[in-house]
Amino acid sequence: MLAAQQQEQHIGLLGEAVKKDFPLLHTLMNNKPIVYLDSAATSQKPRQVLDAIQRYYEEYNANVHRGIYALSEKATTAYEHARFIIARFINAMPEEIIFTRGTTESLNLIAYTNVKQLRQGQNIVLTQMEHHSNLVPWQQLAKEKGIGVRFIRITPEGRLDMDHAHQCIDHNTKIVSITHISNVLGAVNPVKEIAILAHERGAQDCIVVVDAAQSIAHTPINVKELGCDFLAFSSHKMFGPTGVGILYGRKELLDQMPPFQYGGDMIREVRFEGTTFAELPHKFEAGTPNIAGVIGLAKAVEYIKSIGMEKIQAYEHELTTYALARLQEIDGLTIYGPKTSEQRSGVISFSVHGLHPHDMAQLLDREGICVRGGHHCCMPLMSVLQVSGTTRISLSLYNTKEDIDKLVTAIEAAKQVFYR
Ligand code: PLP
Repeated sequence: MLAAQQQEQHIGLLGEAVKKDFPLLHTLMNNKPIVYLDSAATSQKPRQVLDAIQRYYEEYNANVHRGIYALSEKATTAYEHARFIIARFINAMPEEIIFTRGTTESLNLIAYTNVKQLRQGQNIVLTQMEHHSNLVPWQQLAKEKGIGVRFIRITPEGRLDMDHAHQCIDHNTKIVSITHISNVLGAVNPVKEIAILAHERGAQDCIVVVDAAQSIAHTPINVKELGCDFLAFSSHKMFGPTGVGILYGRKELLDQMPPFQYGGDMIREVRFEGTTFAELPHKFEAGTPNIAGVIGLAKAVEYIKSIGMEKIQAYEHELTTYALARLQEIDGLTIYGPKTSEQRSGVISFSVHGLHPHDMAQLLDREGICVRGGHHCCMPLMSVLQVSGTTRISLSLYNTKEDIDKLVTAIEAAKQVFYR
């Protein structure tokens, strides 16, 4: 089959074809049909996920792990089945999956529970493109322990500088924490290579943490292949509800770590004299969890699997190629990050000469187009790029070429308003 025909086939399979599953995409914003280009902030939710959440509340709402009655057993089975589905999705074991509130809490959990293991003279290695969620917890931890944080530089093209990675990671490196895909530059980082480097050259017990917030809905992830020790992501960026996150951790490491929070559900036995803790994964899940959210997330994973991650990736790659080409036709527009779609996601940051990102976002809003303007929780990266903020679009499986065409027309119109 000709490449062009194959391309058209992918385009046909997604975009318009899946839009029907997403009720919100059929609404109006400012009296215009909505064009949603902010999936990096949060994705829209398919009907299948919304129905699963409603079904839980209407048909088997009960607390998990506690009741002896049928309703509670049904809720517990659904909750634990969700853990199994998510484990399989990233090739982990169910006990290696910890439910949290989101990527931010997952990363904080690792930072807090590893405090005691850090020694004077050790260092933590991050990158210049980290989201504040994968920077501030480590910075605080380093401050508390009086140790250094090193930041792997980015190249002028907006990719990770691997020569600098070799310089940063040394025998005193205890933690390497890196984003899989940048939420500003769209660059896909070579996390597998970084994990090998960290395990070969870092301290003997060096751990590799991957922030998968921007990759989990866009690329197949196999934690064994990546070679990471921990992986963090959020349900709401992968078509699931807000308020649920995942922390994957290698069982041997999770077993050694102390609990993050204390309370009900995470204990084995409590006496006035002291407490023993539950086995994995419950040791890390104190209190009543977000049961409906977890059940919704499992449905979101099933939704992704029903389409196929490879198809999603191929479709988004084509859409990103198209978007990069169309945006680069615009006079005065600068793209931050790789300008071609190789090793790149559909997150595209740009600025238009003379237009503040907030003004641009507001003008696009009038046309029904949702984009993000600002520092995207990456203030240190903004200082490297020497800008105060950017305008960012982020594509997902429900976007179409038509969405991009509307965006380009609206940007040209915004320029007319400002350049007049
Ligand atoms: N890491 C990256 C790369 C992100 O893009 C985000 C959110 O935008 C986060 C972490 C934080 O995710 P959450 O707010 O769901 O905890």
